[in-house]
Amino acid sequence: MSNKKIAVVGSGITGLTTAYSLKKNGFEVSVFEKNSEPGGAIKTVQNGEWLTEYGPNTLLIRDKTVADLFTELGLNDDMIVANREASKRFIVKNGELLSMPQSMLEAVRSPLLTIKSKFRILKEPFLSANPNRDQSIAEFIERRFGREILDYAVNPFVAGIFANRPENLSLRHVFPKMAQLEENYGSLIWGAIAASRKKSSHEKMDRSLVSFKKGLQTLPLKLASALDVVHYAHKVTALEKREELWYLSSNNNTFGPFNHIIINVPLYQVGEIFNSLTKNGYTFENEVDYPKLSVLHLGYKKEDIQHSLDGFGFLVPEVENRSVLGALFSSTLFEGRSPKESHLLTVFVGGGREPKLAELDTNKLVTIVEEELKELIGLRGGYQFMDHVYWPKSIPAYHLNYDNTLNLFEKFEDEFLGLTMAGNFRNGISVPDCIKNGLKLADSLTDQFNH
Ligand SMILES: Cc1cc2nc3c(=O)[nH]c(=O)nc-3n(C[C@H](O)[C@H](O)[C@H](O)COP(=O)(O)OP(=O)(O)OC[C@H]3O[C@@H](n4cnc5c(N)ncnc54)[C@H](O)[C@@H]3O)c2cc1C
Repeated sequence: MSNKKIAVVGSGITGLTTAYSLKKNGFEVSVFEKNSEPGGAIKTVQNGEWLTEYGPNTLLIRDKTVADLFTELGLNDDMIVANREASKRFIVKNGELLSMPQSMLEAVRSPLLTIKSKFRILKEPFLSANPNRDQSIAEFIERRFGREILDYAVNPFVAGIFANRPENLSLRHVFPKMAQLEENYGSLIWGAIAASRKKSSHEKMDRSLVSFKKGLQTLPLKLASALDVVHYAHKVTALEKREELWYLSSNNNTFGPFNHIIINVPLYQVGEIFNSLTKNGYTFENEVDYPKLSVLHLGYKKEDIQHSLDGFGFLVPEVENRSVLGALFSSTLFEGRSPKESHLLTVFVGGGREPKLAELDTNKLVTIVEEELKELIGLRGGYQFMDHVYWPKSIPAYHLNYDNTLNLFEKFEDEFLGLTMAGNFRNGISVPDCIKNGLKLADSLTDQFNH
């Protein structure tokens, strides 16, 4: 495996993981990143004693591959597990924070759902299946569990993870396992029981919600430091193929030759890079919506919040007609996020639900958010700390007919052999999914070059 050279454009988590694994497999890897630091959406900012995350806040590790990578990188001592209290999550109903049930008994007793919906859940195993077609998450959940479960369980959850609405997302692409359960077992409940029995003890791993003492950017920084060549402040502007080898342009220089180039750039930014290749051929920029999102980091004195914030945070169902999508109780989640006598909240506004709200200026947003925090968690003082992050494009929405989009990537890669598109627009948006996809891509390229 000597002398094979690979370039990675973009130092998002997918590209960095791929680069790290390829280097281990003997490739010469160069990463090109337009910013001055690695991580893309993963960005941690320390302001005095306030530690804020501009993008992801938590990693849910439920896969041994990801845990093994962290061990290999020597990250276990830096890793912190979410406080026990974070297992409690709140949903807003009629203006009140209700804790989400964590057991069957709690579910039966919970006021979150009406008796009618609780009986409706019991009917799910006996409903006929209607799988094998593309359907929205909303359509699927309403069909199998009824409207209230869609409104009070799934709608807020989808807003919290994907900054979007269940009506806008394809079940089979966003929750492929759920779609498969209906396909294979005719019911989600039967399927979940059967699937958990089938799992080998090797596959069963305790799920843990983690971050790092110095925040999530620790991970991309660690991966980047294990690489030989990372060119920061190098925006790639063009690609060119000459005699089966690839070259790229950046900062008025040409770099190469490379045997392969991996493009780990959000779809709305690939246009400029591909123009030189495809003329008007591929318009990835318009292929996928990335909803607008505002993230407000707000710090308050503990005594100024009546609620004890004993949980992960709260999510707001769309039917509650509020501006806030949800909030993380960041200083409850992990130690070292705020001064001892203060709370740090991370509040989300906009997304696919209310994109216009995300665009509001900081003062207007803070006023709206604080008004709702007064009602929801008993806020009664002004903030001590505030930071506003605006994402004009946040998280790619795997829309209905996403197969067409995936086919477009394949068509492009068939036409331009030696280029691969990699990132959260393919096979999962979570950081752990991006890591797994990066490792898989490195393995498949290694196989390809070894044969
Ligand atoms: C607000 C928010 C909250 C999130 N919360 C969570 C969470 O709690 N948990 C979780 O698991 N996931 C979360 N996610 C999702 C997750 O963070 C992302 O899906 C993931 O980090 C994206 O990684 P990526 O590999 O696609 O690359 P990106 O992060 O998209 O990185 C792409 C990189 O390409 C660079 N680039 C662009 N153009 C060029 C060019 N021409 N030349 C060179 N470089 C270029 C960019 O500067 C960037 O560094 C969240 C995302 C957002 C936005």
